[in-house]
Amino acid sequence: MSLQETAIEYLKGVGPQRADMLRKEAAIFTYYDLLHYFPFRYVDKSVVSSIHSLREEQQNALVKGQLISVQEAGAGKSKRLVALVEDSSGILELVWFKGVKWIKPTLEIGKEYLFYGRVTRYGAKLNMTHPEIELIVPEQGHKSIQPVYSSTEKLGAKGLHSKGIEKLLRTLLPQFQGRMEETLPTSVIERYRLMNREEAYMQIHFPMSLESAEKARIRLKFEELFFLQMQLLRLKKLNTVRFKGNPFTQVGTVFNEFFHRHLPFELTEAQKRVVKEIRKDLGSGLHMNRLLQGDVGSGKTLVALLCMLLAIDNGFQAAIMAPTEILATQHFNSISEFLAKMDIRIGLLTGSTRQSERTILHEALRDGSISLLVGTHALLEEEVKFKNLGLVVIDEQHRFGVAQRAAMWKKNTIPPHILVMTATPIPRTLAMTFYGDLDVSVIDELPPGRKPVKTLHYYENKRGALFHFMEQEITKGRQIYVVYPLIEESEKMDYNHLTDGYESITRRFPLPRYKVSIVHGKMKPADKELEMQRFSRGETQIMVATTVIEVGVNIPNASVMVIESAERFGLSQLHQLRGRVGRGVDQSYCILMTGYKLGEDARLRLNTMVRTGDGFEIAEVDLRLRGPGDIMGTQQSGMLELKIADLARDGKLIQAARDAAQEVLDADPNLENPAHRAMREEFVQQSKKRSNWSVIS
Ligand code: ADP
Ligand code: MG
Repeated sequence: MSLQETAIEYLKGVGPQRADMLRKEAAIFTYYDLLHYFPFRYVDKSVVSSIHSLREEQQNALVKGQLISVQEAGAGKSKRLVALVEDSSGILELVWFKGVKWIKPTLEIGKEYLFYGRVTRYGAKLNMTHPEIELIVPEQGHKSIQPVYSSTEKLGAKGLHSKGIEKLLRTLLPQFQGRMEETLPTSVIERYRLMNREEAYMQIHFPMSLESAEKARIRLKFEELFFLQMQLLRLKKLNTVRFKGNPFTQVGTVFNEFFHRHLPFELTEAQKRVVKEIRKDLGSGLHMNRLLQGDVGSGKTLVALLCMLLAIDNGFQAAIMAPTEILATQHFNSISEFLAKMDIRIGLLTGSTRQSERTILHEALRDGSISLLVGTHALLEEEVKFKNLGLVVIDEQHRFGVAQRAAMWKKNTIPPHILVMTATPIPRTLAMTFYGDLDVSVIDELPPGRKPVKTLHYYENKRGALFHFMEQEITKGRQIYVVYPLIEESEKMDYNHLTDGYESITRRFPLPRYKVSIVHGKMKPADKELEMQRFSRGETQIMVATTVIEVGVNIPNASVMVIESAERFGLSQLHQLRGRVGRGVDQSYCILMTGYKLGEDARLRLNTMVRTGDGFEIAEVDLRLRGPGDIMGTQQSGMLELKIADLARDGKLIQAARDAAQEVLDADPNLENPAHRAMREEFVQQSKKRSNWSVIS
């Protein structure tokens, strides 16, 4: 057994009880775990202040001087210990209200000490309450930068507060001295100017300076990300080797007829490139697992359709799955329209498809007479069987979990190819990790002629102006969305808000001149659908809704998006909503209505929306505000258990680490090269901790 796998109770200073506590409270089982229990900050004791220069409320002051008196004062509750320390500039009072009987014996008049703590005013004088104490032993000097470790009440009760943990590390680290092998290739270390491994572990716990602590941190983050990416890259490779895919070798009459005769517009360059990438995958005989990223309105659906036509050309069926009924229906309608002049049977299957229709659908899917199926989660049901399913497109990926994707795999003996499309751009670095085992295509261009949406932030006092503006736009023949937040916790209030809003809008925009639709989650699916259709056909001018219209809805004549209580929406939601307008030739507007009181984050979200329309840029800000866990959902949180790296902030390192890992794997796919032995061992160690990943990410 290697040193790092040694159980923690064997460390000097850790008995069975402490070991138990370390396991339960800090997940420290072995030497390795303790070694990776990094400080979360440091106290810099390299700068000593003179007593004279101290200022009230100074946070972390360090004074050095001779103790000139120690005495207990007061009685009962106000009992305290008061000491005086003197340096060449003055005298400072130190006070302890707790632990008097422990502290008093450690203080000896006449000796030199360091006192470290916060300066407060007490009456006319400054003092320091509960300072940390360090005796200066002349030959030792003092450790000027001190690590601070997180601890818990239970650990503290066993003497394992920060200082106690520090002590364990002071016992542990010397054992590794001279015995820690380098895991990264020399070329990588040199290229990125990384600290060597052993030094990094020493310096992160007990740094010489804050700069070297930072360098150590970078090195260890790099290492963690390197092994994470290595694991993802291997998984990706493994999947393609393990699973055969149905080869779509030919571009046939269906694709060609559509492309040359019915496609209503030119593909954008980005769409062409992505179609080419996907075609290459589909023709390779390997299984495709590809993520298609593209901003709202970039034309992902059309790309999906072209791929589905390829499947049909090669004798397969294809399916596209959307997260809501409204979206599925919309896909069904637009695909039916695209293919109107062609002889292709298309099915629609959602939760509200009647049983009688279902029976017919099921039969037609089994005998292969339906070649293209559009639907919701209903597609996943067991009794939905295909004759020969070759491709599944999953639209607006965020709402589907891993299990659901896995269910689609089982719909054919050779799993169908999978194309996942995202609703909102995910920051590149995050995609590199969460979809690190998928291939990624990006549509980074909008169809021509789109005018950027003008975004404005209005406070309540502009409501009159807003209504006036809405009136003008309606007069020009445009349509308007007015969206209200709906959050489960305050659902009842939110519904009241929505209905109040609806009433005041119908009052301002009365029949018969104006017609106002309303759509919300409490309505029956059929009623929702009806209202959407009315709005879509231009029979109503205003659509009042909750976020049910958030993703995907495509009504080009709607050119104004009003978002009520916009401060309550997240950034990606705001961006999605704004993406509902700007789809036609007219200038579009997005108006963010808010109250006067705005928190700092809300203000940043609103400013970001006003400033930019770039989904990738918005995604980056969103990531910084919310962190990766919130963005990707908890089902993916296994990957978030990083010890030191931060997926939200370490973007550059993630890219570098991925490049480095790829380079190593290209040269030595199974890490068999003797020079990579230490790397391989560390890789195995780290992968074990993340072993519960699914085959399909
Ligand atoms: P998203 O990527 O948000 O799903 P859609 O696929 O809904 O975007 O496309 C948005 C709109 O742009 C649709 O009306 C679609 O028909 C249209 N569109 C797609 N590609 C092009 C193109 N190359 N040129 C012009 N319009 C396009
Ligand atoms: Mg879409």
